[in-house]
Amino acid sequence: MHKITVKDFLKINFRGLKLIYNRNKFSIPLSVFDAVLISLSSYWNFWFLARLLDHLAVNADFSVIIKDAALIIAGDFLIRIIKCITDHFIFHDGSLFWEECNIYLNEKLMNMDYEYMESEKIQNQKRDIDEMVRTHDGGGMNFLYWRMTGVIAYSLNLIIAVVYMIQIINKSRGLFTGSPVKSALSSILFIAVIILLIVITMKRVKQLKEKIFHENETLIPVYREMHWYVFNCLEKESYGKSIRLFHQQPLLEKHLKDLFSEGSCRSIRKGKLNEKMQRITGFLQAGLLSIIYLYLGIMAIKGLLSVGNVVLYAGSISIFANYFSEWVYVLAELTTNTAYVKAYFDFLDIPNKKYEGSLPVEKRDDDRFELEFRNVSFKYPGTEEYVLKNFSIHFRIGERLAVVGRNGSGKTTFIKLLCRLYDPTEGEILLNGIDIRKYDYQEYLSLFSVVFQDFKILSMPLGENVAAASDYDKEKAAGALMRAGMGDTLSKLEKGLDTVLYTDFDTEGIDISGGEAQKIAIARALYHDSPFIILDEPTAALDPLAEYEVYSNFDALVGTKTAVYISHRLSSCQFCNDIIVIDHGQLIQRGSHEELVKEKDKLYYQLWNTQAQYYHKGQ
Ligand code: ADP
Repeated sequence: MHKITVKDFLKINFRGLKLIYNRNKFSIPLSVFDAVLISLSSYWNFWFLARLLDHLAVNADFSVIIKDAALIIAGDFLIRIIKCITDHFIFHDGSLFWEECNIYLNEKLMNMDYEYMESEKIQNQKRDIDEMVRTHDGGGMNFLYWRMTGVIAYSLNLIIAVVYMIQIINKSRGLFTGSPVKSALSSILFIAVIILLIVITMKRVKQLKEKIFHENETLIPVYREMHWYVFNCLEKESYGKSIRLFHQQPLLEKHLKDLFSEGSCRSIRKGKLNEKMQRITGFLQAGLLSIIYLYLGIMAIKGLLSVGNVVLYAGSISIFANYFSEWVYVLAELTTNTAYVKAYFDFLDIPNKKYEGSLPVEKRDDDRFELEFRNVSFKYPGTEEYVLKNFSIHFRIGERLAVVGRNGSGKTTFIKLLCRLYDPTEGEILLNGIDIRKYDYQEYLSLFSVVFQDFKILSMPLGENVAAASDYDKEKAAGALMRAGMGDTLSKLEKGLDTVLYTDFDTEGIDISGGEAQKIAIARALYHDSPFIILDEPTAALDPLAEYEVYSNFDALVGTKTAVYISHRLSSCQFCNDIIVIDHGQLIQRGSHEELVKEKDKLYYQLWNTQAQYYHKGQ
C-alpha cells in the first residue's frame, strides 16, 4: 500500500464524507450538532462556575448566586438530555451506514464484469478490505463515520481554547510591571514551550502510527490464512474425511498453533504500540497542564486574574490539553484509516470494461434466433495461450447442438463466450447478424438458461432456488421440477416448495444429494423459459440410471428450445442432430453421430471407441 500524502488524505476523506452525506443528508449536520453539544458540555460548567465565583467574590445578591447555580445545573442537565437523544439517532444512522457500505461492496461484487470474479487479484482486493476492517477494529468507512463527530468536537474545543489562550496572553502583559519587553518575552516563551511540546508529541505519534499500520498490514495475511483454515477447512465435511483418514490432525494443529501465536504476537505488539501512543499523548496533556497552570498561578499571584478567571482559564486549558491529545490521536488514526477508505473506494471504482450496447433483443414470437461465432479466438485475461482459436460456427433455434471434446479442450469457454461472461479476444459473435456486444446486456443474457458444471444451489427454499426469486409462480416451479425428474422427491416433501435446502441456516432444512442438486439446477434453467438452454455436463453427478432418464427425456425436457449440450461422454450426445467436436480450442469436426463415427481417422471415432462401455449402456 502506497504512502498517503496530505492531498490524498483530504481527497479520500472528503469523498468518504460525500458518500455519508449523499446517503443521508442529515448525518453530517447531526454529527456537527453532536460535536457542538460535546463542546458545550465541556465548557458550560466552567463558564457559569467562573461567573458564580466572581459574583461570590463581590458579595453579589443571593438571588444572583442562586440564578448562577441554577443555570449550571439546569444547563448541564438539558445538554445531557439532548445529547442522549442525538446519540441515539447517530447510533442508529451509523449502524445503518456500516451495513450499507457492505451492501455497496456486495452489489459491486455481483455486478462487476464476470472476468473479475475469476481474477485472484480482485478477489484478494475484496478480502483485504474485509480483513483490514477486522485488523483495524472496524476501520475504513465505518471508522470515518464514527470519528467524524470527534474531530469536529475536538476542533471546536481547540478553537475555543485558543481564544482563551489569546485572552491569557493579553492579560499577561502586566506580568512584569514597568517592563513590557520582559512580559512579551515571557509570553513568547510560554507559547514556544507549548508549541515545542505539541510538535515533539505529534512527531512521535506519527512514528508510532506508522509502526501500528505496518503491524496491521502483516496481520492481514495471517488472519486470512487463519480464517481459511477455521471456516473453509476444519468446518467442511469434504476436508473432514481426508483429515481423519490421513491423520492430518497433528499437522493442522501445528500449523494453526503457529498461525495463532504469530497473530497474537503481532496483536500484542500492536497493543503495546497503542499503549505507548496513549502514554505519549498523556504526557503531552500533563506537560501542557503543568506549564499553563504555572503561568496562570503566577498571573493570579500578581493579581492579573480574578478567581472566576482562574477557574475559567484553568478549566478551559485542561479541556484544551485533554482534547488536544485526543485530537492528535484521532488525527493520526484517521491518517492510517485513509488507506482503508482508499482501498474501499478503489474496489468500488474498478471499471466494468465490458462494452454494453443498448440495442433491444428482438422479441420474436417464432423464436427464430441465429447465432454465429465468426473467427473467434480467445485467451483468458492475464494468460498468453489461446483457449479458442479461429472458431467459427453457425446454429439456429430449435437445433440440438452437442459440443464434445476432451477435458480442457475449450467447451465451457465456448459457452462462457456465448453468454458474454467474456468477450472474444479476436473475431465476433453475432445474434441474427448483429454483434452481441451491441445488444442490451441483460436482455441478451435473458436468452440463455445455463446449467454449468459447477452450478450452485443456495441455502434457501427449494421454490426460490428454482425461480431465483422470492415471489414466484409456484405451479411453474413445480412443473419445472417435475420435468427435471424431481417430481417424486417434491411430492414427499412436507413443506413442498417451501422446504429449505441444506442445513447451514435452518435446522429443518434438508440435505440433498449431488444428483438432486443437479436436477434442481436443471429445473431452474427450465423455469426461466429462455429460448436457449445450455447444459454443461449436466449428468456428471447423476448415477447411470438417472443419466439415462435425462437423455431419454431430453426432447421433452427442452421442448422447442435450442439446446446446447456439452459433454465429454459421447454416448450422451447421440440424440443431438448436430454434434461439434472441439480439440485444443478448435472446431475439428461437425455432423450427426452417424456421420462422425464414419470418419475413422478422426478424434470423434477414437473417443467413441474409448468410451464404448458408456456407448453400449446408452444404446
Ligand atoms: P472444457 O470445458 O473443455 O473442459 P474449459 O473451457 O473449461 O475446458 O478450459 C479450456 C482451457 O482453458 C483449459 O486449459 C483451462 O485450464 C483454461 N481455463 C479455463 N478457465 C480459465 C480461467 N478462468 N483462467 C485461465 N485459464 C482458464
